[in-house]
Amino acid sequence: MSTLTIERLVVGYGDGAPVLDGLDLEVPDGGVVALLGANGAGKTTLLRALLGLVPVRGGRVLLDAADLTGLPTEDRARRGLALVPEGRSVVAELSVAENLRLGALWGHTGAARDAAVGQMYELFEPLARRRDAAGHTLSGGERQMLALARALVARPAVLLLDEPSLGLAPLVVAQLLGVLRDQAEATGLTVLLAEQNVTGALSVADRGVVLSLGEVVADRPAAALAADPALRHAYLGF
Ligand code: ATP
Repeated sequence: MSTLTIERLVVGYGDGAPVLDGLDLEVPDGGVVALLGANGAGKTTLLRALLGLVPVRGGRVLLDAADLTGLPTEDRARRGLALVPEGRSVVAELSVAENLRLGALWGHTGAARDAAVGQMYELFEPLARRRDAAGHTLSGGERQMLALARALVARPAVLLLDEPSLGLAPLVVAQLLGVLRDQAEATGLTVLLAEQNVTGALSVADRGVVLSLGEVVADRPAAALAADPALRHAYLGF
């Protein structure tokens, strides 16, 4: 079981006003929740706060019954939380295979490590073809696949993603989002997916949550949210 529960979370930078002010959100075990909202709504801040990368002023973050609030980032990762940050982060000098082996250091030993890397080549066929290529020679889509595979290979319980589809071709986006959906169904991976690509995110999510100025203004089944033009127009800009 890996349900992520966020209770009355308050987060801000320095002495400034809170960016998130009492945010409540639940991402159920094996569920995919799309986190939507305009630029500056607080999506990145929330993901970083969940990992302990920005200080929390109040509220709690729970993984099942365990209270993660106040734990160092490393301990949260050890308990199964992983973040794919915006910007397709891979080690540019290392090959695809080396990047994946690095990701697999966490949570696997010996032969299990190779098997886990092999599974990533099955999920992301283009990476198998490019396994010896250095990170810096990859296309944008390949880099994002590698960033996602590098997180998945460590078998996280909860995967947080910050705009994975940004700047990518529609076919690549569909493939990446499809992998997330499949992993949630096949392995029980719990996914919180921050996206500006509202249509894409809602097509693979169970629920959509709309943030505006650090507050949840809608939390509904994905299909209902996709079909609500007034809400889309008010908060999502289309
Ligand atoms: P985007 O899609 O542009 O990344 P977002 O929804 O992820 O937007 P955040 O990046 O979390 O939003 O920003 C929320 C608010 O926090 C904004 O007003 C932003 O200016 C502010 N903010 C973000 N990072 C910092 C920082 N390091 N220091 C001060 N304020 C920040």
